[in-house]
Amino acid sequence: MRYQKIYDRSPIFVQNLIATFYGYKMKQQRYGQTYYKYLKYLEKIHKYSRKELENLQFQELKKLLNYAVSNSNFYEELYKGINIDFFRSITDLKKLPIVTKEMLRKNITDVITISPRNANIGHTGGTTGKSLTVYYHPDDTQKRMAILDFFKMKHGFENIKMRRATFMGKHIVPPDQKKKVFWRYNAAIRQMVYSSFHITEENIPYYIKSLNKFKPVAIDGFPSSIYDIANYINRKNIRLDFKPIAIFPTSETVTGEHRTVIESAFNTKMRDQYASSEGAPFVWECEKGNYHYDITTGVIENIENSNEVLVTSFTTYGTPLIRYRIGDSMVFEGYNKSCDCGFNTPLVKKIMGRESDFLYTTDGAKIYHITNILKDMPNIIVKAQLIQDSMEHIFVKLVIDGKLNDEYRKIILDNVKYEFGNAIKIDIEVVDDIPKEKSGKFKMIKNNVRGVI
Ligand SMILES: [Zn+2]
Repeated sequence: MRYQKIYDRSPIFVQNLIATFYGYKMKQQRYGQTYYKYLKYLEKIHKYSRKELENLQFQELKKLLNYAVSNSNFYEELYKGINIDFFRSITDLKKLPIVTKEMLRKNITDVITISPRNANIGHTGGTTGKSLTVYYHPDDTQKRMAILDFFKMKHGFENIKMRRATFMGKHIVPPDQKKKVFWRYNAAIRQMVYSSFHITEENIPYYIKSLNKFKPVAIDGFPSSIYDIANYINRKNIRLDFKPIAIFPTSETVTGEHRTVIESAFNTKMRDQYASSEGAPFVWECEKGNYHYDITTGVIENIENSNEVLVTSFTTYGTPLIRYRIGDSMVFEGYNKSCDCGFNTPLVKKIMGRESDFLYTTDGAKIYHITNILKDMPNIIVKAQLIQDSMEHIFVKLVIDGKLNDEYRKIILDNVKYEFGNAIKIDIEVVDDIPKEKSGKFKMIKNNVRGVI
């Protein structure tokens, strides 16, 4: 938070330097030796037959299970009486109990296998608003970056070497900035970061002008943000001065509407992938437009008689995820069906995600990523709900495990103001429980203004 204040008071050119400095730090963390080694390895196994891929998956599974039992107190205790050495195939995984987010949250210090000091930290909110901090082993992070970049390479985009535009919920624009500059440049990896918080009808022309000048080779980030820009481009019949080779959405479920509008506006293909911030295995779209369940990155099973999935991920050595109930749903193609692109994995028919809803900032921009307001918080939030009943007022309901002291209260207030504008009025109430909707679903955000304005 202190660094944020220094950043906020600096002129924009200094902020670009700070973004780049931070970018170099991230580059070391994400793109080191393990990353480059793993990229080569991915290239090799990409040509494997289905049988070879399945063998590899089983070997990786055993490696992860043995590691978890020997290094995580939580898993050692959980698997007491189950002999992993007797496992003969992936289906033996079913002998292990399911792990929920609540179990991880409560026992996180026993779950993790490395000291948080040596870990890369990931925060996740999820649709229920339950906060969970996961600790990645440095190698986990680099391998995940390599998998993501390998997928992009299949579509012709080489990360770091090529210009990339990213739409995300980063706090890069200080709350009282007057200039219409909603992006910052991270020269370390040739990435222009665009704020998702300021995309309004009034501001979109400035975003488009910047994109035209920067001419990104690929665009990635929140599909809801890219959609709002694309929608404007289509409505106003704007011709862009560049043609990206692909759009890579992240963090949200891509709807059919997103895809049609974005592909038409940018005159290119959208290439989707699934992998959550907790560290789930990857499912990604190939050049033929099929979703590959990448069995080299983990195991995804359906819970019996349901589309909901359990994930086991081979890139979670810091915080092992084994039969973890992540909250997403998927429909698989027949197991023997494969794609003729050359990657012989099973295929996924449909990924049903977490629903996306939004709240308004005081000046009418849509905020989809409400979980941002819970970042920097310890693992005490069990449930959160934000209700907007007017453009100037947001009501925050929290179920807390422990006590919400003034310091934590202030973090939330600051985060809400950051995202929704200084003029927003906020009431925080700690409650015993938050009831579900009539549909049985829990809604983290309720927009009662939607449709009124
Ligand atoms: Zn394919």
